[in-house]
Amino acid sequence: MTGTTLKPDVQVQGPAWDLSDEYPAVTAGEVDADLQALDDLLDRIAAINPRLSAHGETLETLAVADAGDTISSACEVFTLAEQSNRLLGNLSVFASCLLSVDAEDDEAQVLQGRLLGYRKRVAELLQPSQQFLDRASDAVVDAYLDNPTVSASAFSVRHDRQRRHERLTLAEENLIAGLSQDAIHAWGRLYTQLSGTLNCEVMVGNEVQILGIAQASGLMQKPDQRLRHAAWQGINAAWETHQETCAAAINAIAGWRLETVDKRSARQAVHFLDAPLHVNKIRRATLDTLLAVCEASAPVARRAALAMARAGGREKLGPWDLRAPAPQFSSSGEAMPFDEALRLIAEAYAQVHPEMGDFVNMVAERRWIEGTVTHRKRPGAYCTRFPKSRNPRVYMTYTGSSSDVITLAHELGHAFHSWVMRDLPECQRSYGMSLAETASTFGETTVRDALLTRAPDAASRFDIMWEEMAALPTFMLNIPARFSFEKTFYERRAERPLRPNELKEMMAQAWNEWYADSMSEPDPMFWASKLHFYISGLSFYNFPYLFGYLFSTGVYLKRDDFEGDFYSSYVALLRDTGRMTAEQLASEHLQVSLDKPAFWEETIASLESRVARFEAVVAEITEG
Ligand SMILES: [Zn+2]
Repeated sequence: MTGTTLKPDVQVQGPAWDLSDEYPAVTAGEVDADLQALDDLLDRIAAINPRLSAHGETLETLAVADAGDTISSACEVFTLAEQSNRLLGNLSVFASCLLSVDAEDDEAQVLQGRLLGYRKRVAELLQPSQQFLDRASDAVVDAYLDNPTVSASAFSVRHDRQRRHERLTLAEENLIAGLSQDAIHAWGRLYTQLSGTLNCEVMVGNEVQILGIAQASGLMQKPDQRLRHAAWQGINAAWETHQETCAAAINAIAGWRLETVDKRSARQAVHFLDAPLHVNKIRRATLDTLLAVCEASAPVARRAALAMARAGGREKLGPWDLRAPAPQFSSSGEAMPFDEALRLIAEAYAQVHPEMGDFVNMVAERRWIEGTVTHRKRPGAYCTRFPKSRNPRVYMTYTGSSSDVITLAHELGHAFHSWVMRDLPECQRSYGMSLAETASTFGETTVRDALLTRAPDAASRFDIMWEEMAALPTFMLNIPARFSFEKTFYERRAERPLRPNELKEMMAQAWNEWYADSMSEPDPMFWASKLHFYISGLSFYNFPYLFGYLFSTGVYLKRDDFEGDFYSSYVALLRDTGRMTAEQLASEHLQVSLDKPAFWEETIASLESRVARFEAVVAEITEG
């Protein structure tokens, strides 16, 4: 089949994956053997820990000359911990793979339950070595990192230690951690509880239905604009009846963070953005530049939103349209068989470099993709990897739509990222959210462009471009609006808690600032309806999305700047994602400075040409 519009088709599905080279079955002796080996490793860590904790409160003043035994104990624990995590990770991935395909797999449930206990034990057993790495002096930690068995962890150890000036005494830290469970985290749990049990009234057709929030929120992905609007109204009305509760929660969560930031500022002023920036390995100057460029380029994203609205026969989008599916312009269409999708992806990947095409074929041949259609499967798509064999797996439900083809390309991008890192030590493999989508966006864009070149008409091109265009207002308007709101909120919360009306006003203002004339009205209750503001473990869970989106798009665009040698730079960049900051990575492998506007401006300029192409397609199908 060559490029008719792709539609889901029940006849089409992907293959089942093969997990048997990891474990023959969840009840197999190999699973018990790994659990036994894990027990042994953890017992050994427990036996070493007393030596590691011997200096307790005096770790800070421990001299290198007296640290020999502590250092060698820490090195032993590091090695044992890597081995334990490999086994624990392997068993966890196995259990969750089985549960994705069949959520009611009792034996996999039992295994997952057992692993919970192991995870808790590992976390407790690693406390003393964590204390050592946090609290010992630079000289002692340098002496520790000189040891060849641990030297690979130097980047992550030194990065974690950058916020040492924030540390309180051990007793104070323990007190804060202990109290946080029934304070900041309790407010987060209250919100989750509320959003899980809250009902709302939605006009569906001619009748009012009582729906849960998640159910109603699902309606906002339906093609019917009136239904989406009704769902949005129902959800917001429900949140309004609980606005005092939500305001109490969001004020308490921010208040707790501001209070701890204040207590941690004795040695050096701490800002509420320090923690989220540090976790994402981005500097403040980079974030400021990124946001400034984004603000200046907001009209580009607004044009995408306006073209999407026109395609739906309206002048502007409403807040209920943000996750709307593409309006349908073509009636005929066939699903793309899985093998054909795979061939297309392999060919598109191979145009970047033959090794990338070979990788896609290898993944298929070794049966690492789960794409069947069954009613017991969990929704969604992901890529994971088994730490023992280091082999990836891709999970999705493949029905042959163009969005499935793009999802497959996206997840294979993640798999490729994992594959090029396979020989690296575990401690160099974990990268933050800001870099996690680099290879997936790359894979996705490569394949979307390949799909576009073979699309026979404007209607098919429109289908393929829809999600790419929807990303612009999401990442470049909605995410910055969330950031603006949260930052202003923290600044004002430092004075006093804010009333629900003030929160609504601030949110409406942030929406108006960013969306301007591209949105029919703001979403004032967004501060209550958006879960991300209530995640007690993480603040500012917004800017990493924007960074990741533009960074990965920028990497894709660099493809043309490198002439023949892009591939080796690309692989080198992916391999360093777990051992460099975002700024180091960009300067080392792309020769760009992320705290200067040029990289971001060029990236957005190229997005603008894609918006212009989309506008032309919309004009063609709506006028034609
Ligand atoms: Zn992804």
